[in-house]
Amino acid sequence: MIDIGVNLLHGQFDGDRDEVLARAWDAGVEHIVITGTELDGSRDAAAFAGRHAPGRLSATAGIHPHDARNAPGDWLDRLEALCRHEAVVAVGETGLDFNRNFSPPEDQLRVFAEHTRLASRLGLPLFVHDREASGSVAEVLAAAADFSAGVVVHCFTGDGDALARYLDLGCWVGITGWICDERRGRGLRALAPEIPLDRLMVETDAPFLRPGNAPRDRHGRRNEPALLSWVIETLAACRGEAPDALAAATADNARRFFRLTA
Ligand SMILES: [Zn+2]
Repeated sequence: MIDIGVNLLHGQFDGDRDEVLARAWDAGVEHIVITGTELDGSRDAAAFAGRHAPGRLSATAGIHPHDARNAPGDWLDRLEALCRHEAVVAVGETGLDFNRNFSPPEDQLRVFAEHTRLASRLGLPLFVHDREASGSVAEVLAAAADFSAGVVVHCFTGDGDALARYLDLGCWVGITGWICDERRGRGLRALAPEIPLDRLMVETDAPFLRPGNAPRDRHGRRNEPALLSWVIETLAACRGEAPDALAAATADNARRFFRLTA
């Protein structure tokens, strides 16, 4: 299994980050891509990945749409430098979040468009966040000069139109424990069989989105990469596939997409 989205440097892991990683490896997670969500966090994620488990940990570098309003004047140069770190395998997290609009939409759009241009300039894949913004996300992607290195819409939660739009653009789709949520995940469970197997990847988005089908433990609502199998379990059931085969296929996709060597 490969977990393509973990907020591993989140404060919720400060007390036991090494144990969280040990449990992930024990559970059969082979590789984790740490999500970078702002400049300092992306720098720390790349450094952590390079220091702790090179080959098994890598990182993305980007500015989350929530943080777009706080991007400093020289953010693009600084991000480009970060993207040259050997542990960085994708540009992002970037995208649009019109659900909460923590940053004004015009800031989100400007910063997202720059990320697409940077990814195309560097030949790196793009790690995209879309919350209630699929039409605008697709428009920005379609306007990008080139994204032949690949785009993954992580934590996909959109409807059938959004899925069709992304597949038309050649995007990959990342599925989280959202699909395990009895109420919120209903639409996604119905759509899951429509995602081509070779476009599919899985992620926990830990410490967020703990799969509802995972057994209770002392960590309460906190999610961790060791629970990735619960996402795969639900996704496989929706698609009528064997969990092991789906785990292997999504791991292969992640290796290809992020050009992982291990
Ligand atoms: Zn996200």
